[in-house]
Amino acid sequence: AAKKSGKGRISYCSGVMKEAVQEKMTLTNSLHRALEGEELFLHYQPQVSATTHEITGFEALLRWNHPERGIISPEVFIPLAEQSGLISSIGEWVLKTACTQNKTWQNQGYKPVRMGVNLSVEQFRSSNLERIIRTCLEDTGLEPQYLELEITEGIAMKTSQYVIRQLFALKNLGVAISIDDFGTAFSSMSRLKDLPVDRIKIDRQFIWGIGENPRDEAVIAVMIHLARELGLEVTAEGVETAAQLSFLQTEDCDEIQGFYFSKPVSANAIKKDIYENHFSNIKNKSRCIETL
Ligand code: C2E
Ligand code: MG
Ligand code: MG
Ligand code: MG
Repeated sequence: AAKKSGKGRISYCSGVMKEAVQEKMTLTNSLHRALEGEELFLHYQPQVSATTHEITGFEALLRWNHPERGIISPEVFIPLAEQSGLISSIGEWVLKTACTQNKTWQNQGYKPVRMGVNLSVEQFRSSNLERIIRTCLEDTGLEPQYLELEITEGIAMKTSQYVIRQLFALKNLGVAISIDDFGTAFSSMSRLKDLPVDRIKIDRQFIWGIGENPRDEAVIAVMIHLARELGLEVTAEGVETAAQLSFLQTEDCDEIQGFYFSKPVSANAIKKDIYENHFSNIKNKSRCIETL
């Protein structure tokens, strides 16, 4: 049955919409429990140099193992977390866990690399963000250059002084900043030059057009060229095939992230040998690390 508080509004909805609303409420309620229990965890996806295939970083990707429904995609539950205000606690947990993991690997003698952490719009809007990240770095002992904050192009390109100030405040902590899903938000490219960012991550939709759609290839080439001129690094996301990799190498892309090298995997799956011997040692394999 619909909750009393929402009854008036819900009664106008069709049966299907009503179900969708109830589904959202049910999931949101169990998200509270997920954060308390141990249902949330992180997977880590390697990022490698396009030329040497050495690991240069990881991206932390949030997973929810729901007791009845199994793994739920972040594309489904992050929006619910944002709407319910839970995103700030979840986001802090992600930051802390990812930084701790990166520091642990360093303590174990692994080559120091970056850890990318996604920030939601709501987190980015918060005036506490700078303090939260500073505290996280202090508590975990991770040096700031090994944390990279990923914000989406949509957030970065909002023409507000607040966005610019927030970016400079974060940058002053010494962390790296990347623009995620680059190319999807129809932003003005000229604005990029005024933002204190280090990297763009080309959205996977473009990558999947390589070999299929010359227009996607043209856009990728222009994005890489622009980044080059502005002194930014470029990561291509969603790289699945040798042909995509080869095109990106020709276009002088810096780093590659995608199933071709590795799916996102558990921390346990990231072993010292995989971490330190580059992926180029593994020949003729379409996937170097399988999901664990
Ligand atoms: P994103 O930040 O753009 O992350 C990259 C997504 O592309 C991940 O999906 C990753 O698994 C997927 N991916 C990478 N390489 C390939 C490939 O070769 N093929 C295919 N088919 N997919 C590939 P995932 O893990 O499902 O995450 C989806 C989105 O959810 C992320 O997109 C990000 O926007 C959001 N997200 C994930 N974790 C967090 C988090 O901790 N906080 C926030 N705020 N958002 C998160
Ligand atoms: Mg990301
Ligand atoms: Mg992305
Ligand atoms: Mg995305």
